[in-house]
Amino acid sequence: MEVQQLREKVYAANMALRDSGLVLYTFGNVSGIDRGSATVVIKPSGITYDDLSPDSMVCVSLESGAVLEGDLKPSSDTDTHLELYRAFDSCGGVVHTHSRAATACAQARVPIRCMGTTHADYFHGDIPLTRELSRQECENDYETNTGRVIVEVFADRDPARIPAALVASHGPFVWGRDADEAVYHAVVVEHLAAMECDMRVLNPDAPAPPGYLIDKHYFRKHGANAYYGQRDR
Ligand SMILES: [Zn+2]
Repeated sequence: MEVQQLREKVYAANMALRDSGLVLYTFGNVSGIDRGSATVVIKPSGITYDDLSPDSMVCVSLESGAVLEGDLKPSSDTDTHLELYRAFDSCGGVVHTHSRAATACAQARVPIRCMGTTHADYFHGDIPLTRELSRQECENDYETNTGRVIVEVFADRDPARIPAALVASHGPFVWGRDADEAVYHAVVVEHLAAMECDMRVLNPDAPAPPGYLIDKHYFRKHGANAYYGQRDR
């Protein structure tokens, strides 16, 4: 994909994030990657959504984080996005928000548990919670270290099957095959987090559903044997 096309795609995904109601003011950011040229396109820092355009998106190098094109400073969370792209080959777009329910879970230090089929239609297991950053990690390279604690919790998880994490005391980072899918997943994560909050009120000790039900729902929509939806559409 050409970088200009990616700018337009990432701009549109940022506007979709604004329209999703997940963000306040200038909060939130979406990026996308062109693996061929190792270029990441991301929202500029501190610009209101109404003032964004495809040309105001900032292109940065995947390896160094240096700005390749654009006059504006990239989002302050850029280094977190870059860490995720470097670690997760399947990741084509990243979204960060402070959406209310997902941030409540991150602050309460609880994962979003896989407790039913709505969750399993999108995520094959709990959406994990990271550890807290140390003082050292916070004071130096904070944004890169935020990415690293996310990568840490995926040592024994597949980021393609669980494309989201909650950073402790902070909020959700969500990804997908491209910027559009990352926004879509961010909306789903917020819905699942709201249900997690409800479940903890209704019955904090509710048992987890059987694994075969979770597998059924996940694999009928994902992977080689998926059969949900319409073929060739
Ligand atoms: Zn944040």
